[in-house]
Amino acid sequence: MDGLKLTLKQHHTQQTCFSVGDITIGRDFTLIAGPCSIESEKQALSTAFMVKEAGANIFRGGAFKPRTSPYSFQGLGEQALKILNLVRQETGLPVVTEIMDPRHVGLVAEFADILQIGTRNMQNFPLLREAGQTGKPILLKRGVYATLQEWLSSAEYILSEGNPHVILCERGIRTFEPYTRNTLDLSAIPALKEITHLPVIADPSHGTGRASLVPSMSLAAVAAGADGLIMEVHYKPEEAASDKDQALSPALFRQSARDILDLYRYLHIPKKGP
Ligand code: PEP
Ligand code: MN
Repeated sequence: MDGLKLTLKQHHTQQTCFSVGDITIGRDFTLIAGPCSIESEKQALSTAFMVKEAGANIFRGGAFKPRTSPYSFQGLGEQALKILNLVRQETGLPVVTEIMDPRHVGLVAEFADILQIGTRNMQNFPLLREAGQTGKPILLKRGVYATLQEWLSSAEYILSEGNPHVILCERGIRTFEPYTRNTLDLSAIPALKEITHLPVIADPSHGTGRASLVPSMSLAAVAAGADGLIMEVHYKPEEAASDKDQALSPALFRQSARDILDLYRYLHIPKKGP
């Protein structure tokens, strides 16, 4: 893979690990959960307390939303950042939120523990550089048409700014299949584990677009070797302002998180001998 000096394993044999809140990403299982968009204090706080109790260690919620239509809900912007701050204070969970505009990076970095770069901006090079310069952990999603090499080249932009704290997130690619919103490319997980030292997580919510498919694809991602998951959860999915078809209800998330953490422990915690 040409042009990759910092992201490949051959140049850096150890797994990249860094701490966020109480966990070490790359070493501990990272379970990120929360709504697609922050809609209100009540929605954010009740969802956050619920996901924390179910085992999530990081809260997600969009403030600036990349919507296909300019007429769809665009997110609450700065007001949502303040709500995320409140969620951190009240629950103790670190928060991740998306940045879309290089002009917002400084503002979002004041409020967020992890900056998310979404699929539509994976190759927004000025944004990658600006985000890299903050030194904050960056959750870099895969572009819908991006090859692994293109994706790693985008990670390389961040690392080349002196910021090694990158998490790669497989969130599905565009294929000919319309039943699922995207096709979650689970083979990308073990492939990336072979070639890069960066932590790799999966997003089964955008990867399927259907809440009913999220629990099984979450388990599949863990079995494929993911270092974590990011899942959309809403305290009242039918009322979600964005991505309601893929939002897990509290009951479904609780059950799913239990199964995910059990499977992770089964696969990764050394078993006692006979
Ligand atoms: C999101 O996480 O809500 C989001 C918009 O993700 P993606 O960039 O993967 O579509
Ligand atoms: Mn979403």
